[in-house]
Amino acid sequence: MTDNRAATVLQILKQTLALPKWVKGKNDPFETLIVTIISQNTADRNTVKAFENLSNKIEITPEALEKAPISQIESAIRPAGLYKSKTQTIKQAATTILEKYHGTLQPILTLPLEDARKALMQFQGVGPKTADVVLLFSAKQATVPVDTHVNRVSKRLGFAPAKGAYEDVRKNLQLLFAPSDYLAVHVLLIEHGRKTCKARHPLCNTCQVSVYCPTKGQWG
Ligand code: SF4
Repeated sequence: MTDNRAATVLQILKQTLALPKWVKGKNDPFETLIVTIISQNTADRNTVKAFENLSNKIEITPEALEKAPISQIESAIRPAGLYKSKTQTIKQAATTILEKYHGTLQPILTLPLEDARKALMQFQGVGPKTADVVLLFSAKQATVPVDTHVNRVSKRLGFAPAKGAYEDVRKNLQLLFAPSDYLAVHVLLIEHGRKTCKARHPLCNTCQVSVYCPTKGQWG
């Protein structure tokens, strides 16, 4: 099912926003998993810094991270915040991949989408957003990860129920858009949320899709 308004909004966002550089680098599934764990509740700038610190000190492979001292990982990713629990998540992910999947995420990535999501969410600290990011970017699976921006912007634009939970938002977006656009939907709603449809003071007066927005001007 498609929706003309949704298609028009996406078209405008495609024409007015560039895809950010970070989209291009996300291919190796294990790196994507690690960077997404680091990025949880963290500003982009700090995620990039923490990931650079980590990759400068330790090779981003399950083997190297499993062997690395906890203190080394913690100090590298400290700029990202919650560094102790994120270190635990990284360590456990590395160990599980080595012990259960022979050192590669590949067997999970090739499962049907919902099975792959479930398998990834078995990892401690990995929720649906992290699983969906890994599957969309590194396995080209047809899913739309819902981060804080995607969640807010989708609801304001009427693409998802105002009180919808993660799965409601994801499923509504997947019904509204073609699978070939899922990556663009995810990335462009994030960009729109960062630049214009901000959490506290959205810039409705200069918003490029305000004509199509049912909640224009309602957010202070
Ligand atoms: S009009 Fe305002 S609330 Fe609607 S999408 Fe634009 S910035 Fe967001």
